[in-house]
Order: sequence, then C-alpha cells, then structure tokens
Amino acid sequence: MKNSEQLQKSNYLQQFQNRPYGRNLFRTEEEENTDGPEEECGIFGLYSEHDVDTFSLSQFGLFALQHRGQEACGISVAKNGKIFNIKDEGLVLDVFKDIENPENFMGNSVIGHTRYTTAGDKKKYNFQPFFAKNEYDQIILSIAHNGNLTNAKQLKKELEEEGVVFKATSDSEVILRLIQKNLDLGLRGAIKETMEKIQGAYSVVGITRNKFFAFRDFHGIRPLVLGMMDDKTFTVASESAALDGIGAKYVRDIKPGEIVYTSDHEKGLQSFMVKENCELRICSFEYIYFARPDSQLENINVYDIREKSGEKIWEQAPVDADIVIGVPDSGVPAAIGFSRASGIPFRPVLVKNRYIGRSFIVPTQEMRERIVNLKLNPIISEIRGKRVVIIDDSIVRGTTSKRLVKIMKDAGVKEIHFRSVSPPIIAPCFLGIDTPSKDDLISANMTKEELRKYLGVDSLEFLSMENLKIILGSSNHCFGCFTEKYPVEKGEDEGLFQ
Ligand code: AMP
Repeated sequence: MKNSEQLQKSNYLQQFQNRPYGRNLFRTEEEENTDGPEEECGIFGLYSEHDVDTFSLSQFGLFALQHRGQEACGISVAKNGKIFNIKDEGLVLDVFKDIENPENFMGNSVIGHTRYTTAGDKKKYNFQPFFAKNEYDQIILSIAHNGNLTNAKQLKKELEEEGVVFKATSDSEVILRLIQKNLDLGLRGAIKETMEKIQGAYSVVGITRNKFFAFRDFHGIRPLVLGMMDDKTFTVASESAALDGIGAKYVRDIKPGEIVYTSDHEKGLQSFMVKENCELRICSFEYIYFARPDSQLENINVYDIREKSGEKIWEQAPVDADIVIGVPDSGVPAAIGFSRASGIPFRPVLVKNRYIGRSFIVPTQEMRERIVNLKLNPIISEIRGKRVVIIDDSIVRGTTSKRLVKIMKDAGVKEIHFRSVSPPIIAPCFLGIDTPSKDDLISANMTKEELRKYLGVDSLEFLSMENLKIILGSSNHCFGCFTEKYPVEKGEDEGLFQ
C-alpha cells in the first residue's frame, strides 16, 4: 500500500471511532453527541367518533414505538374543538408521568411522536407533534412526521419569502406550514397540494380541531399501518406492534400516495389517492434492523425476514463451528435461523443490559471502555475455547463488531466467524434512517478482506443483495444504503436540514 493510502486509512480508522451515529449499544454519550440532527421516529394516531381515553391509548401506542425514538415524545389531542399539545425530552413513560392534567388529553383524536436524534444540542422546538396557531393563539393544526424531506430547504426559503414564520429547524415544520397555508382549499386539498410539493420520505399523522388525517409519500418509504379498535375508532401507526399494544386490529398498510382522513360530509375514514399506481419502495432496513420483530409491514412479518436471513447466509457461506450467537436484539432471530439451517446449536450467550436508556457520562477513556461490558456481556464459560459464529444485522462503522470481537477474544474463544445478515452498507441514508456519511461507513472504505483483518476474525461474510431480495420476496424496497440507488433524488438537503 502506498504511504498516502496508508495514511488515509489510518486517519479513517481514527476518525470513525470518534464520529458515531445512532443508538448503538457501544456508543458513549460523547460519541453520540457529535453528529448533526438525523432522525428515526415513530408516529401514532387515533380517531374516534366518540370520546375515548386518548391519554392512555396514545401512551400505550407510543410506548410500543419507543424503539423508534428515545430522545423525546409528545402528543396533540383534540377535545371539544380545542387542541392540547404536550411534548418533552425523555422516554414515553417519563413524559406522560409528568402530565399534571390527564383529563385535558382525553378527547376524540390524538396524534403522537417518539423522536430520536443524535443532535448534541437537544432543541426542544424540534420535538413533535408540531402545531400551528391562529391569530387567537389557538392551535388549529398539528402533525407528527417520520421520514426526511429532500427539498425542505428550498421550500422553507420560498415560504419565508412569502412571509411564513418558522419556529423550528426541522423539515417536518415545512409540511405543517404548507398544509396550514393551503387550508382554504379544504383539508384534503391542502394535504394534496403539500404532497405535490414536498419530496423525500414522509409518513405523517395529523389533526385539526375536528378532523384527523394521515398520509404517506409516493414510494411508501417509511412504514404506516392502519388499524381499527371498533367500527367508530381508527388508528394509524408506524408499526403494527403499536396496534397490538392498544388492542386494535390491523386492517392494512396506508398506500404510497394515499391520504386517509375524516370529513364533514361522510362518516368513517375516507381514502383519497393523490397519485394512482405509485410504486412501493419501503425501506429494506426497517426489516433488517429498525422495526420490531413482532411487527408486520406490508404484510411481511419482520421476525420471519430476520430468521430467513440467518438461513440464507448459512446457505451462502457455511462454516464449521461449535455454537452460533446473535447480537441482541436484531441479530438473534437470524442466529436462530442460521442454527436451524446448519444444525449448529444457537446459544444466547451475549447478555444485554435491558436498562440502557441514556448513555453514561464518564470523563475518561478508561471508564468509557469499561462501559462496553456493562452494556453487552458474554457468558464466558459457554464460549471459552469454542469456534463461534457471531451474527449481527449489519456492520455500519464497524465499532460494534470490533468491540464485540475484542470481548469474545478476551473471553477466550478459539475461532470467530462473523456474519452480517445485510449486504455491506456503502452509502448513507437521507430518507430517515440514521447512518453516517460515506467517509464513516466502513464497507465503503475497505474491501471485505481488509475488514476481516481489521476486525481480527477468521472469516467474514455479508448477506448478498440477491439473497436479501429473495428473502423479501420482491424488489419493492429501497436498497439505497446497499446500492447507492435511491427511489428519490437526493436533493440539496442531503438528508440534513439545518
Ligand atoms: P456499527 O457499530 O457502526 O458497525 O453499527 C452496527 C451495529 O449498530 C449493529 O449492531 C446494528 O444492530 C446497529 N445499528 C445498525 N443501524 C443502526 C442505526 N441506524 N442506529 C443505531 N444502531 C444501528
């Protein structure tokens, strides 16, 4: 290797250790606070023709979506023609615990949001649901958004030139202001107008003082499912697990390009297609990593996909080993699938501490290194002297795999065979999954063999794109992080809106 290449590589290795993303198990507080605001969120909404306990139901629904965002949460409730909003930093149970007047939040419709961001500066004005007020200081419209727009900067500029005042720095506020601006077209017309302007990934729920709505972008990139509690009570959520959480029945997924809404003229929930025959391109990483295993998205069971990915990678890259281990949580179903296909016993010997909510704040590198075993600890007696297959859903920066391999080696394993049940991640996501820039994606910067050596493992394999498509049963997905080909153009925002 040439000297300059060597230097580049070693700089790279140093920098990616320090520039992390996400709520990765191995990230420290310091690491988590270095990137820009990138979001992965959960949204929930419920509308009933009679008064229901929207306070408890939204709490349950959001609690079931807690994995999609732990930074902040909030709800907006419509009650007797008024909208009440509350949002704060913290987990769902903490935020709801502090609500002093729950009766204000019992109405006939509610929307809610769990927010995740890596932003160091936790800006309260960016928490959701967002709301817009009239000249009497009354909230008239509120929305919660999951996804990322790609043309929000430009739209914001145009709106500001028209005199629209923004209160936050989030792309979601652009959606709010556009709907607000067009309300004289009627609610459906205002949403249609908005959808025709905004680009990127968006699943949105919203309320006015007497109406409810939800809509999904033309490719259905972020998930959104519809459920029913009774024939007068509808609910919409990022994942079906949230419907289970409130005892609602899954009805169907909201279609790409569809608005569902209530109207003055008709009872029940109405549907309107802003564009017919849109091509579904739901995010494949939802199945691989992000969604709960007990959710089904587009009629595909997430757990099933994860188990099959383990079976497939065994077919693709078999290996002789004594045990197979899954990295909790999303690697575990894949390890079970791998075990079933190979006959190699599955051992749940990586113990994850369930109480990791926030990261530790510790002053020294030495203490930071200790945290690794606090978060994920192996049962040493079960792995010492063994040939081990470790399965994780993905390798992004390589931080997790590198630290995990060290833990396993310290515990005295004989051989390590690392399997990622997703293809190499070579490109960032600008459509709502928090991934770092290309410079920090290890597979964009190293060959498989270089990475194998860097991790210090005996073998390394990634699930092939072909096999991922076979498991998912179609190509109706976004595979942008694996192929750098996205269903929408990047746009000038490049995923960051600041
Ligand atoms: P890394 O340590 O950067 O290679 O990240 C890979 C690990 O992080 C795997 O264990 C994944 O389960 C997890 N992971 C994958 N994608 C994300 C994400 N967007 N946010 C947080 N953690 C992630």
